[in-house]
Amino acid sequence: MINERMYQLGSQPNMIRKLYAYGLDRKAEVGEENVFDYSIGNPSIPAPAAVRARIEELLEEPAEQLHAYTMSPGLQSARQAVADNLRERFGIEATFDKVYLTAGATAALYISVAAITHPGDEVIVNAPYFAEYKVMTESAGCTLVEVPMRSSDFQLDIDALRQAITKKTAAMVINSPNNPVGCIYTQENIEALAALLIEKEQEYGHPIYLISDEPYREITYGADVPFTANFYDDTIVCYSWAKSLSLPGERIGYVYVNNRMQDADNVFAAVCGAGRALGFICAPVMFQRVIETCIKEPTNVDAYAENRKILCSMLDELGYEYIPPDGAFYLWVKALEEDDDAFSEAAKAHDLLLVPASCFGGHGWVRASYCIGPESIKNSRKAWVALKKDYS
Ligand code: PLP
Repeated sequence: MINERMYQLGSQPNMIRKLYAYGLDRKAEVGEENVFDYSIGNPSIPAPAAVRARIEELLEEPAEQLHAYTMSPGLQSARQAVADNLRERFGIEATFDKVYLTAGATAALYISVAAITHPGDEVIVNAPYFAEYKVMTESAGCTLVEVPMRSSDFQLDIDALRQAITKKTAAMVINSPNNPVGCIYTQENIEALAALLIEKEQEYGHPIYLISDEPYREITYGADVPFTANFYDDTIVCYSWAKSLSLPGERIGYVYVNNRMQDADNVFAAVCGAGRALGFICAPVMFQRVIETCIKEPTNVDAYAENRKILCSMLDELGYEYIPPDGAFYLWVKALEEDDDAFSEAAKAHDLLLVPASCFGGHGWVRASYCIGPESIKNSRKAWVALKKDYS
């Protein structure tokens, strides 16, 4: 008999994928230029030329060598490149033996949660949040506890988090720069969080791990992104090159267990165990090799900054309310009615594809992914105008 939960997960793809699929059908029907697809976070800029050059170079190697398995956590040289990069950029004494290469941030998150929780534990997330957090938490037999971010500035609400932490809290997930809001938690905010977690660890006598999900780390518009592991020892970093190097389909990222963690060796062993138990061993090998040499390639943030400018000034002019994003490539726009699902449907009628907040454990807002061509953003003006008119 099939597993009912898996059946539900598989037969009801999340709203983002549904909207994206709808957009593809609509484009075939009415023409690509007439559909304004702000649904999915697929980078619109190409991967750096160095990635292609590296792949071409690798293809010269004997195939049996190139495509061979690596050790489960990845090639030592690629893990070393990650550790060196973390040390150079953030001054942390990272070592390769605390780096586990994964098939993207998703695998990194599943591995991390499985490694440090037991069924019945609680995992805190800050709402709105990336929808897969719920699936990964429940897959580990844990309960997701949602704590809204501060509505005034979309920072972590330390007082609310204090109320939410219990003796069952095993972990908290944070994501900065944030999907879907685009906010970046300030150093002051991260320091306050670290102080709270330390206090609660002492009170309950067990670690509370902070899983820092950082696929948008390099996509910022001026604000600094504090490196969480420098502020809280019990941090596990989950990273992906999906967005920074525009490689979402290649599935490459990592788990980094903070070297400063008291039981870092054991946690890393559990990470390896979780990788094994979940089948996430030996991340795609070609891209381990690509990362090894391309890790310092800069992210082309200019293209997203330009899109952000075009979209924000258009919405300013049309009188929409939104949260000015400090990072990532998402705009959190206030829905023109309480029911964000209905608002998203109303937008869809104008071929304007916006993801309702309900997808992210929020309500009353929609998310617009502006990692699309600037022309499409400009051309979407008429759809935004028509949508506004529906509510006037
Ligand atoms: N975490 C967040 C916040 C994301 O937005 C995404 C992807 O959009 C992921 C994790 C998953 O990244 P990956 O594609 O590397 O699995």
